[in-house]
Amino acid sequence: MADRRRGISAHEAQSAAFPLIFDIRALAASTPAIPSARPVSADELTSSPDRFIDSTETPLLIVCDIGFRSAIVTDLLRSAGYNEAVSLEGGMEGWTAIGLPLDSPEGLTQQQYRRYDRQLKLPDFGVGAQQALGNARVAVVGAGGLGAPVLAYLAAAGVGSLTIIDSDDVEVSNLHRQPIYRTQDVGTGKARTAADFVSALNPDVTVGARSLRLDDSNAIDALADHDIIVTCTDSFETAHAINAAAVDLGIPLVFGSVYRTEGQLAVFDSRSGPCYACVFPTDADGSALSCSIVGVLGPVTGVVGSMQAGEVVKLLTEIGESSSGRLGLYDARTQTMESVSVRKNPACRVCGDASC
Ligand SMILES: [Zn+2]
Repeated sequence: MADRRRGISAHEAQSAAFPLIFDIRALAASTPAIPSARPVSADELTSSPDRFIDSTETPLLIVCDIGFRSAIVTDLLRSAGYNEAVSLEGGMEGWTAIGLPLDSPEGLTQQQYRRYDRQLKLPDFGVGAQQALGNARVAVVGAGGLGAPVLAYLAAAGVGSLTIIDSDDVEVSNLHRQPIYRTQDVGTGKARTAADFVSALNPDVTVGARSLRLDDSNAIDALADHDIIVTCTDSFETAHAINAAAVDLGIPLVFGSVYRTEGQLAVFDSRSGPCYACVFPTDADGSALSCSIVGVLGPVTGVVGSMQAGEVVKLLTEIGESSSGRLGLYDARTQTMESVSVRKNPACRVCGDASC
């Protein structure tokens, strides 16, 4: 059929039942694909088509992400005599959007492929990274201004297990910076209500709610068996109790704090760098003023909490460089982010030489 159209819709392609389907997407081998599609690079296919196709008369379907590259490859194949080559219009996006069947490579369900599609497409972030998130257990201490974006983004990204620790109730004055809560949630326990939010956002996540104020007597028990601890508390004493437990347990601590229009961000991993107490010693002025006294710009908590969530995802998936050994200083008034080096303090009372 010499006049076969160059492009074909997803529905037409499905009913045409092509004997040969070539998927030229970069991640074709590790993402859901049209059943029986064969992953191949555009270069391989166009430079030596006879390696893949027995006859120039064989009907072929060429598939890419959105139908652009497949149209080019189709033209190249046609100019080489493969006149039955056809491009899938709209690519896999079009195929997936109307719910046509997909074959999944091992590891993720088709639903998970759809849910996490945009992060799976990132360079360096494949099925392995998604599975690493799914297998991770993260404790989030404080479900307030920082905890809200941390929980929302970690749940959305597919972190498999989240433990939410907070002993407070939702107050109406929280709502300007804690958008996981609704007006009708005022008076409810934060840990439980935040857990309900997480479950509604992503049923893949196993979520635990603990209405608990951490101190030196209970922090180790509460934080053991996690891969990462995220501290989102505005209490200096609580932060130190969490840090001491993190050092004891050998678990990285992702730290954030806010003050009016400024924020701080760091990853403390005492196995390879400073701990929280190396930078903020226990005998320093601990009278950190809470948001209820000094005020805070809501979006600042969103910025810093989102950065904390980003650091957690990076640590779990081993993408990029972690912030370990650096203290990030954010200022919303000038829209600047500075980063200063922080070092292990040999005299640190928690992780230093004299600590035990
Ligand atoms: Zn230390």
